[in-house]
Amino acid sequence: MKKNPVDHIIKAAQRPEGLSLDDSLAVLDAARCDLLSCLGAAYYFREMHYKREVTVHILNNVQNGLCPEDCRYCAQSRSSHALIEQYPMKPESEILAEAEAAYEQGAFRYCMVFAGTGPSDERIDRLCTIIRDIKKKYPIEVCVSPGIVSPVQAVRLKSAGLDRLNHNLNTSERYYGHICTTHSYNDRIGTLKAAKEAGLAVCSGVIVGMGEAASDVVDMAMRLRELKAESIPVNFFMPVPGVAITSASGLSPEYCLRVLCLFRLINPSAEIRMAAGREMHLRSLEAMGLYAANSLFLQGYLNVRGAADTRTLQMIRDAGFTIKSEVPLDELLAKASAYGEEDGIKTIKELRPFRKQ
Ligand code: SF4
Repeated sequence: MKKNPVDHIIKAAQRPEGLSLDDSLAVLDAARCDLLSCLGAAYYFREMHYKREVTVHILNNVQNGLCPEDCRYCAQSRSSHALIEQYPMKPESEILAEAEAAYEQGAFRYCMVFAGTGPSDERIDRLCTIIRDIKKKYPIEVCVSPGIVSPVQAVRLKSAGLDRLNHNLNTSERYYGHICTTHSYNDRIGTLKAAKEAGLAVCSGVIVGMGEAASDVVDMAMRLRELKAESIPVNFFMPVPGVAITSASGLSPEYCLRVLCLFRLINPSAEIRMAAGREMHLRSLEAMGLYAANSLFLQGYLNVRGAADTRTLQMIRDAGFTIKSEVPLDELLAKASAYGEEDGIKTIKELRPFRKQ
């Protein structure tokens, strides 16, 4: 790295072709570039595109478990023995109640996540009805994570009013065979291209800490740049007991911050989310992640709890950031739930708070 690393990284990231492979690897390497320079350069772009705003997302497992795929990191996969709650798709009334609650809790976007390979046409019919109803009732953006979809299904979701489709890349093309054998990296790329062609915004995330090399992390960030992903959740692997990959590897708080900086620098205008594992792996450095990322999840992750809402909202406020919501941060903080644990699998009550008994 050059003498003034912040300027050097900013200039390199501004080139039409973006950060080079060598500069990208330097951002991930403590011996080659100091952390504050990486954060300073990442913040330059974060501030340019998002000021000091944080977008809050709340996940909703509209269907949980029972997946025939063998993704080795996933508690819902057929290769997992994790003791999670499993259920088929929730009824529409329950999903609408959750969308309303997400809106009232300050979520800018409501995310419905399905387990499984991909949706049947019948499921797409049901989803289209639900998307239309949510959009009619609440001024909230809607994102769906439906699994692998065809170009026709993507067009139907777009016509129903869907704003964004999530389908994670998870790891690099080179490493994909180490984490899943029942579908390919190209299946995932195909879904992202179908969503883009249908006019949907695309959210596509990664999981870091599953044994991949630093060059794989760079490869993921660059592929998402090529795909023009509007939103990139950066997950830090959280090993759930019973899942095939039993531990996270190579993750220190400092390395996690470098990864967030790298995704910001390679994808300067994308919504970069410090997603699952921010509490576990960033630990005391978590608030510094906001200098690279502009988004996070509230209320934990798919099957695993996260920090209490009060702790997360207070962290945003303490670090001098605000949230993108019609509800002011102070108001949300006053009524936020102090409930939450840093670890543990979610109970059925947490996953389905509006289920009729
Ligand atoms: S990541 Fe998705 S496709 Fe893979 S096992 Fe989990 S739910 Fe199934």
